[in-house]
Amino acid sequence: MSTPSDETPEDICPRPSEPPSLATAPLSPPIHLASVYRCESPAQADRILGGDGDGYVYARDGHPNADLLAAKCRELHAADHAAIAASGMAALALAVLAHLQTGDHVVASRQLYGKSLALLEGESGRLGIMSTRVDTCNLNAVRAALTERTRLIVVETITNPILRVSDLGALADMAHERGAALLVDNTLAGPVVCRPHEFGADFVLESLTKSMNGHSDVVLGLLTGKGDVWRRVPGVLSAWGLASSPFDCWLALRGLSTHAIRAEKACHNALAIARWLAKQPQVETVHYAGLIGHPDYALARRQFGERFGSMVTITLRHGRAAAESFIASARDVPFCPSLGELSTTLSHPQSTSHRGLTESDRVALGIFGGTIRLSIGIESVEHIQASLAAGLARIED
Ligand SMILES: *Cc1c(COP(=O)(O)O)cnc(C)c1O
Repeated sequence: MSTPSDETPEDICPRPSEPPSLATAPLSPPIHLASVYRCESPAQADRILGGDGDGYVYARDGHPNADLLAAKCRELHAADHAAIAASGMAALALAVLAHLQTGDHVVASRQLYGKSLALLEGESGRLGIMSTRVDTCNLNAVRAALTERTRLIVVETITNPILRVSDLGALADMAHERGAALLVDNTLAGPVVCRPHEFGADFVLESLTKSMNGHSDVVLGLLTGKGDVWRRVPGVLSAWGLASSPFDCWLALRGLSTHAIRAEKACHNALAIARWLAKQPQVETVHYAGLIGHPDYALARRQFGERFGSMVTITLRHGRAAAESFIASARDVPFCPSLGELSTTLSHPQSTSHRGLTESDRVALGIFGGTIRLSIGIESVEHIQASLAAGLARIED
């Protein structure tokens, strides 16, 4: 655009630049940081804001980087709809606020992520949404907890840290018989291990913060939907301000481009490491659904096929002292209370994710002072094994 010679810096500097018109398309997507878009006319603005026209007006309602990421995730899960929210928790808030109202009832797995239970019990409770906590591995307990007002069952595909597996098909049938919906938090599995919509889930939630992005530099969440549960989701996303940032979406799409190959490697490593740990004298218990002795092995084979996820949890003999010594000696395995990073990391549930529970509640979930949750990375099996061996070497057997 030519500049009239009488324009001063005062006028030139703030003038919006024209977006480039490119003769060739970039192979990687641009980052659209704009908070607001120029509309052609009131009619166009009206159409877009009314939800029946392509285009963007305001980034809280939608932006290209969220849509690109959502489209990829929708395809990965063979879902009808997908939305990106500011975090995994924002995605859960989105589902609750879009699907439930005062007087409704939720059946929640007692093994849910701690913050998810806080949202479903404490926060939703304040809004008059009631919930019951059950062991979702026990289908009779789930059936007994359902009431006339139950509108949602919430479970995790693989639970943290004991890595139990729920029967998604049976839970979906149970929910649907009552006119309720099933929401599956698939964060620990991811779409390479499991696609819960195939088993009848109405909503699937994933914290993209974990292995979907996989590079420990983004906090984002995904909600996908199948069928007619989606109607209120776009409006709730905007009105409750749960939307994502374009830069985070751009990073997550980039991370996601290697998710399949990372997940494949991490699952392969995790199975080898679980088998190796089961033979170590300092280890009392190994939790991994891919081991034949795991209580959910048969179900996991049916639901997941050959891949069982990248988390492996162990309980060391000699309790908390052994865990302290392991963490201090396994220097190549950072103690990071999250999961799904590129490299192998560990967490200690008693002092981190499950510190808010009473001791007896922790024991009921199988969490002891010596329990360590490993998030297996994509290094060589030999390297991971050597790092863990260094941690075990200091513990008496
Ligand atoms: C991390 C996590 C969440 C929450 O996701 P954020 O992105 O941290 O908000 C929910 N569920 C599970 C199973 C998680 O591991």
